[in-house]
Amino acid sequence: MRASQMFLNTLREAPSEAEIPSHILLLRTGMISKLVSGVYGFMPLGIRALQKIETIIREEMDAIGAQEVLMSALQPAELWQESGRWSAYGPEMWRLRDRNDREFCLGPTHEEIFTDTVRSRVSSYRQLPISLYQIQHKYRDEARPRFGLMRSREFIMKDNYSFDRDKAGLDKSYMDNYRAYSNVFTRCGLDFRAVEADSGAIGGSNSHEFCALAGTGEEEIVYCDGCGMAATSERAAFRDAPASSEEMLALEKKLTPGTKTIEDVCAFLGLPQEKSVKALLFQTFDPDDPDAGYKYVACFIRGDRQLNKTKLNNALDLPDYAVSFADEAAMASATGCVGGFTGPIGLHDCLIIADSELTGCRNMCAGACEADHHYINVNYGRDWSADKVVDLKLLQEGDPCPVCGKPMKSARGIEVGQVFKLGTKYSVPMKCTFKDENQQDQPMEMGCYGIGVTRTLAAVVEQHHDEHGIIWPVSVAPYHAMIVIVNIKDEAQCALAEEIYEKLTKAGVETVIDDRDERAGVKFKDADLLGFPVRITVGKAAAEGNVEYKLRRGGDMELIPAGEAAERAIALVNAERRG
Ligand code: ATP
Ligand code: MG
Repeated sequence: MRASQMFLNTLREAPSEAEIPSHILLLRTGMISKLVSGVYGFMPLGIRALQKIETIIREEMDAIGAQEVLMSALQPAELWQESGRWSAYGPEMWRLRDRNDREFCLGPTHEEIFTDTVRSRVSSYRQLPISLYQIQHKYRDEARPRFGLMRSREFIMKDNYSFDRDKAGLDKSYMDNYRAYSNVFTRCGLDFRAVEADSGAIGGSNSHEFCALAGTGEEEIVYCDGCGMAATSERAAFRDAPASSEEMLALEKKLTPGTKTIEDVCAFLGLPQEKSVKALLFQTFDPDDPDAGYKYVACFIRGDRQLNKTKLNNALDLPDYAVSFADEAAMASATGCVGGFTGPIGLHDCLIIADSELTGCRNMCAGACEADHHYINVNYGRDWSADKVVDLKLLQEGDPCPVCGKPMKSARGIEVGQVFKLGTKYSVPMKCTFKDENQQDQPMEMGCYGIGVTRTLAAVVEQHHDEHGIIWPVSVAPYHAMIVIVNIKDEAQCALAEEIYEKLTKAGVETVIDDRDERAGVKFKDADLLGFPVRITVGKAAAEGNVEYKLRRGGDMELIPAGEAAERAIALVNAERRG
């Protein structure tokens, strides 16, 4: 490719809304172009990098026997009503109607479509297992689209779905995909961890997320160096300390004027925060009957803990959007809570959920449901009880590992993929069954597996860049090499550059020759910004047949004969192109 003919539009500065390196660099290199918030187009360099990732994915999917298909993004509501997710999915789903008022959505994911496809074509155990995948656009009207391709409203996902006759088959499909995902992300040059994850709106019993490690990542993961346990912090179970053996003291109401926060009341009463109970108040609605109005929920956790909203949603068996912080004034008149002074004693007409740890705590301080008052020596079982007792807290750095008890560590990451065991969550309601050897109908055991293809591209840039630009791994680079002609008016330079260009291109090294009539400084800046792995500069030394050879990832610039530069580039690319 000749830079003079390329549809190339590099920017010195990124728009101010771009906050993280991948967003800034994908815009500055002109690889992506924003249409509206969370919706991007791909320019020639962008699509090339994306296709590299897609090729890696296709090779790894084909290697585990998955077959590629392509489904429509447009999905009829009826299938989602069958699975029960039409109401459960919430405002992220992009809904629309046709001219006859029939309801559709733009698919945020495709479980229903694949289940429907397989149930209408597979009837016998002899046809199983089946694994189908596609690489296709998904639509989610995210509340906060941000960070460019990281969280967009239209994005490309590779999703596949496995159909097995029994749990053993599903276990194998799951492990095949798990391994294929590890291969994909390794080949893309990502430093990642596979961690236990919550299964969220997709459902099912068992799930892992693949997180590319990055300080800018939205996902917090916790891991244990002792036993290897690793999970998203929203998923990680908490290991409660054994119940306290302290003697229960007499309940006492205290005047605690103006102490609306845990910090204030504990300072006022001279108590450590772990001796206090924190109240968190929510309102919920039934997605199947949103007009029925709100119900109120009061959650209680130890004062020094953080609530894990995912655990709360799971305890309520409600999707995230149906559980929000309560309107405290409305909740106060209905339940007797008092802003800043709510405790479990004196509340009425609301669901009370206690964190499991509180049942073993003794002589706690809690709001008295009366302005400017708290109780001390509050004890679960004696003074109050809950409708539900579950683990509601976030596992954080330093908390004990739920498996071995060692202090946990934490890191941030970008969720680039997730694998789920769905079991029969979709096959039972949607009657996706097969006949076994005894002619009995059995539901298929399903798994589903997703890779955020566009997010993976962003994650690669997030991990591979410096202050000058992107540093592509060979496997994903839009082009492998850049030949910079320092002075296009110099015939010797042009001739030698063309010679190298031809050699590289013939050998399958994807090369851009920068033949633009620009100052050398501009070309070098662009070469660094675009970040192709090899740079060959053809300048004054061309007269002696020499060129400068440099790798974008670092190392010295070397003055070597043109032929050797070409050979080195070919060898490097051949060694690393598969990743
Ligand atoms: P998140 O928790 O980040 O919202 P998710 O768990 O809802 O993602 P999945 O349903 O597991 O996403 O989708 C599979 C993959 O699709 C994710 O692992 C992620 O890489 C990608 N993905 C999901 N949402 C987005 C988005 N809004 N923009 C870009 N990629 C996304
Ligand atoms: Mg996910």
